[in-house]
Amino acid sequence: MEIQAVKGTHDLIGKDALKMSYVESVFSAVATLYGYQEIRLPIIEHASLFNHGTGEGSDVVRKEMYTFNDKGGRLLALRPEFTADVVRAIISNKLYAKNDLPLRYFYHGPAFRYERPQAGRYREFNQFGIEAIGLDHPMLDVEVILMAVQAFTMLGFEHPIVYLNSLGDEETRKKYREALISYFEPLLPDMCEDCHERFKINPLRMLDCKVPSDHELALKAPKLRDYLSEESQKRLELARKVLEEEGIEYRIDEQLVRGLDYYGEVVFEIQVENQGNRLALGGGGHYGKMVKELGGPDLAGVGFAIGLERVMDAMEKEGLFANLDDSLDLYLFPLGKEALAKTPSLALRMRALGYSTLFPYEETKLSTLFKKAEKAKARYGLIYGENELKNGTVQLRDLKNQAQKEIAFADLEETLDHLLLDEEESHEH
Ligand code: AMP
Repeated sequence: MEIQAVKGTHDLIGKDALKMSYVESVFSAVATLYGYQEIRLPIIEHASLFNHGTGEGSDVVRKEMYTFNDKGGRLLALRPEFTADVVRAIISNKLYAKNDLPLRYFYHGPAFRYERPQAGRYREFNQFGIEAIGLDHPMLDVEVILMAVQAFTMLGFEHPIVYLNSLGDEETRKKYREALISYFEPLLPDMCEDCHERFKINPLRMLDCKVPSDHELALKAPKLRDYLSEESQKRLELARKVLEEEGIEYRIDEQLVRGLDYYGEVVFEIQVENQGNRLALGGGGHYGKMVKELGGPDLAGVGFAIGLERVMDAMEKEGLFANLDDSLDLYLFPLGKEALAKTPSLALRMRALGYSTLFPYEETKLSTLFKKAEKAKARYGLIYGENELKNGTVQLRDLKNQAQKEIAFADLEETLDHLLLDEEESHEH
């Protein structure tokens, strides 16, 4: 019986896995530049964490969460997102009492949502994200946006665009919610089933509806901007001002409410253009109440998450992985028994020097070895038989252009260092 992969999951193999590690490494490096530290968290949590933290009004929790009872009868969930997970860890470990605030953490790993699989949408997908918790300062919101933009720029995206909105403070959202209820109530009979549900739980979500006729109605709904307090307006203004000063392209998008319930004040999404289409690669925003709601102190937070598969798709389309190198440094070509006998220890030496190396375990024809070296994407070949062993030399072959020269064994390390280092540098530029 052939067992299939679970629907909505995907395997990342070889170069594809390398691509994901590369994107993670660039985001991690940029987060480190902003003083963030890594946090690694469980994939399974109590389902109630996401009900309370992520929010029962969100589609993610209402419809898409993977929940199950474990053998001890606990209702657990595979994390559908990380923010509630991070907040739980901060509370469980009392990190807010042991460290200067804000706490700054970055994470990456799989998240799970029972969505309808389609291009760029999986049931198990990977996110990179950051959370800064414990300081309610507008500059922190802005810095989080700048960090995301910097990472996208470092990956090679030329024009990441920030879509920006303010969801205001709690008081604002309460008043606005009432305004939305009055506006949508008479229209409800003509709206989709999801909107009926959203109307009951969180009418703000109705602004996000993708059904065209509902979207039309949402466009004419009262605007949150008319309800924003002076303080919230100032926060949004600061974000605009900094983005403008730094020459970062942004648009105010009043329909942007984000899919998760916990956001307030500044929210944002980062999009790139690809062949005329806009792709949302990630987003985030400020959240005021989650830490307290999950049993911690009254601390605000701000964060963002990007979908790694989405970013990889967009990079693929833009040719941004062209320089990603998955080649092997060396393939060893022992010719004859004596050469073969010396090969394992030569490979050991080469690996100890830091060169990725493969070699045959049995005597093998030269033509076969060439094929194997090609499949292994080997950059250089070391060919040696009886003569070379006798002379203390080796044939060093460039497997790209097939140029070959004999060099003394004693010069091997220096020669390889030059060749491979030069190549590494030219890849970086
Ligand atoms: P969210 O946690 O909903 O704010 O999502 C953050 C980012 O994760 C989105 O902008 C997407 O890039 C990505 N994402 C969300 N859901 C999925 C999914 N089902 N499959 C792949 N990527 C996803």
